[in-house]
Amino acid sequence: MSKLIIVSNRLPVSLVKRKKGVAFIPSAGGLATGLSAVFNPAQSAWIGWPGLPTEKIKDDTGAIERELAARHGCIPVFLSREEEENYYAGFSNRTIWPLFHYFPKYTEYHPPQWEAYRAVNQRFADAALKAAEPGDTIWVHDYQLMLVPEMIRRKAPDATIGFFLHIPFPTFEVFRLLPWRNEILKGLLGADLAGFHTYDYAQYFMRAIQRLLGYESHLGLVNDGQRVVRADAFPISIDFARYAESGLDAEVMAEMAAYRERLTGRKVILSIDRMDYTKGIRQRLEALDLFFTQNPQWKEKVVCILVAVPSRADVDRYQSLKRNVDETISRINGKHGVIGWTPVEYLYRSLPFKALAALYNLADAALITPVRDGMNLVAKEYLAARRDEKGVLILSEMAGAAAELGEALIVNPNDIVGMAAAIKEALEMPENEQVRRNATMRRRIARYDVARWSADFLARLDEAKKTQARLGERRLNPATQARMLAACRAASRRLFLLDYDGTLSPYFNDPSAATPAPETLSLLARLAAKPNSHLVVLSGRGKDTLSEWFGHLGISLVAEHGAACREPGMSEWEVAGAAPLQWKNEIRAILELYADRTPGAFVEEKELSLVWHFRKANADLAMARVNELKDNLVALTANLGLHVQAGHKNIEVKVHGVTKGQAAMRWLGRGGWDFIFAAGDDTTDEDIFAVLPAEAWSIRVGLVPSAANYNLPSYRETLAALERLAEC
Ligand code: UDP
Repeated sequence: MSKLIIVSNRLPVSLVKRKKGVAFIPSAGGLATGLSAVFNPAQSAWIGWPGLPTEKIKDDTGAIERELAARHGCIPVFLSREEEENYYAGFSNRTIWPLFHYFPKYTEYHPPQWEAYRAVNQRFADAALKAAEPGDTIWVHDYQLMLVPEMIRRKAPDATIGFFLHIPFPTFEVFRLLPWRNEILKGLLGADLAGFHTYDYAQYFMRAIQRLLGYESHLGLVNDGQRVVRADAFPISIDFARYAESGLDAEVMAEMAAYRERLTGRKVILSIDRMDYTKGIRQRLEALDLFFTQNPQWKEKVVCILVAVPSRADVDRYQSLKRNVDETISRINGKHGVIGWTPVEYLYRSLPFKALAALYNLADAALITPVRDGMNLVAKEYLAARRDEKGVLILSEMAGAAAELGEALIVNPNDIVGMAAAIKEALEMPENEQVRRNATMRRRIARYDVARWSADFLARLDEAKKTQARLGERRLNPATQARMLAACRAASRRLFLLDYDGTLSPYFNDPSAATPAPETLSLLARLAAKPNSHLVVLSGRGKDTLSEWFGHLGISLVAEHGAACREPGMSEWEVAGAAPLQWKNEIRAILELYADRTPGAFVEEKELSLVWHFRKANADLAMARVNELKDNLVALTANLGLHVQAGHKNIEVKVHGVTKGQAAMRWLGRGGWDFIFAAGDDTTDEDIFAVLPAEAWSIRVGLVPSAANYNLPSYRETLAALERLAEC
C-alpha cells in the first residue's frame, strides 16, 4: 500500500531531556495540526528533527528511533549542535527568513552556512529516499528544506514530490539578492507541485524561474525541458470547528467571565504574535499611542492586551526587538495611563489553547498588522472563534490572509495614521456591520479549513502527476524509437523535415552565436547521404545564413518560415509569391518604435516578413510590450493580408499563407514517401505537423501540447534520435 511521507524541519513530537533519559511531547507550531487530517501514523511516515542536538542524546539514538517509529510514525534526522546552528539558526533564519520577508538589511550571506544548509538538506533527502517505496507520495515543507525536492528527484526520477512554502515567496528584485538563488529554484523544481499561500507568491516564483533560469511557464505549469512542474496557491487554514466550538467550553467561559470582571466594562483590543520583527509590533504600538493622543475620550474605556510569544530568543536581532517592544510599551503606559488603567497589558509568553480562545471570544477588535507574513493564522482563528460573528478584524495588507479576508479593515502596517484611524473605526463600528463583514469571512474559512487545504494539495499533486503522465505518454520512448528505426530501415523513400533553432541547436541570447556544431553538420550530411532519402531544413532564418551554413550539404532549404526555398541543383532561391511589400514600411516603423521602448529588443527584416525579437530584453517588460504590440498589429494587419505570429521570444509579421506547412507541401505533394520524419520546437512548426499524413513520425521538441504525434524534451534527445536514424 502506498503511503504519505511528510518531510519537515521539526517532527510533530519533540524530544525533551528528563532526569532519566528523554520524553516525547507534542511540538509547538501549527504544522502538526495542519496535517493531522492526512497524517495517519499507521500509513504514513514523518521525517524531521526531533528537537534535541545529538550531543544531548548520544547513546539513546537507537532507542529513540525505535520509539518514534513504533509510537508516532516518525523518522528522526539527528542534527548536531553545529549543524542546527548553521543550517537552522544560520541559513534558514538569518538568510532565508529575513530575505523572504522583505528584510534585506537583516539578511546575512555566509557561504559556510549555505554549505551546512545543503548538507543537512541532503540528510533529509536521504532519509526520505530510504523511507520511500514506489507509489509513495512525498510532501516536503517549508523554507528550511528547499533543496530536498531536487535531491530526492535526482535519485528517484519518478517519485511523486510535493513542496509547500509556509512563508512568502518574494518578488524578483528581492529574491535575486540571494547568491544561491538558482540552486534554490532548481531545488524547488524537483517537486511535481510547488504550493504557496497566495496566487501572488506563486506568480513571483514562476517569474523568478523565467528571469533566472529562462524556463517558460504557462497557466501555472513550468517546463524545464525535462518535466513540467505545477505551481499553485493553497491558502493554509485552521481547524475551524475547534475554534468555532471553543466559546462553548466551560473552562473558556469561566476564563472569559474572570477577564470581564477585571476589565470592568472596558473594551478590548487584542494583539497576538510571536515576537518577530516581521510582525510589526513596534509600528502597531506607535499607532496605539497616536490613537490615544488623538482620541482622549477613549482613555480608560479600552485596553490593548498584547501577547508576544517568545521566539528565537538566542538571536541578537530578536533580543533587541524585545527590548524595543518592552520600552515602547512602558513609554505608552507611562504617557497615557492613570491609576487603575494601563492602556497596554503585556504578556511575554505562550498561552495555552483555552486562554487564547477566551481572548478571541472576548476581544472587540483584533489588531493584526504584520509588516510581512506568509499567511497569519491568528486572524483566521479570531474570526472562527466568534460564533456571534461580532468583533472587528484590523488586518495588514502585507499578510497572506488579506488575500482571503477582504472584508476586514485592511491597513498598511507602515501607515501609523491610517492604523490609528482604523482602531477608532473598529471601536465605533455598529454591530450589524461587524456581523455583515464577519459572516462572509467565517463562511469562507469554514469551507476551506485545514483538512480541506491538505486534501486539496494532495489531490492537485495527484493531478500534476497525471498531467506529466499524459505528456509522458506522447514521449518518443525507446520502444517507439525501435519501431521508428525499423520503419526507416524498411522504407524505400524517406523524407526528413527538420527545423533548426531549438530542434538541432539550443537557443542563444545572440542568434548569430547559434552556428551549427561540426557534429550536427556531419549528422545532417550522413542523413542526406542515405540512399533514397531527402532532407529539408525549414527555418525562420534568412536565405544567406542558411546558404552559408548548409549550402555545401546538398540538401533542400526553406528560409523565413516558408518565404523562400532552394533545392539542390537550383542556382537561385525561389521566393514564394510576389506580394507587394509596401506594408513593410508601415509595420517596420511600429516595430522599431517598440524596440526603442524595450531595451534589448530588435527588429529583423526578412524577404517576406519582419520580426520583433525580445530574447535579450527584460522578460517582464517584454511580456507587457508583447501584448500591447500584438493588439496594435492585429488591428493594423487585418486589411493588409498579413499574419501576426508569436514564435519563440519573437513576433513575426508576414504575408498571409506563407508558412512552413505550405513550404513542406512542395515535397509532401510529390508523394511516394514511405517514411516521413518531421521535428520542430516552435509554433511555426505546428504548420508542418498539420499537413503531414497520419503515419508520419512527427516530433515536437519541448514537453508541450502539439499536433505532432510525439514529444522529446530537448534538442539533445532529438539529435540522439536522428543519430540513430542516420546509422540504421
Ligand atoms: N499561538 C499559541 N499561543 C499563543 C499565541 C499564539 O498557541 O500564546 C498560536 C496561534 O494560535 C497560531 C500560531 O500560534 O496558531 C501563530 O501562527 P501565525 O500564522 O499567526 O504566525 P507564525 O507564528 O506562524 O508566524
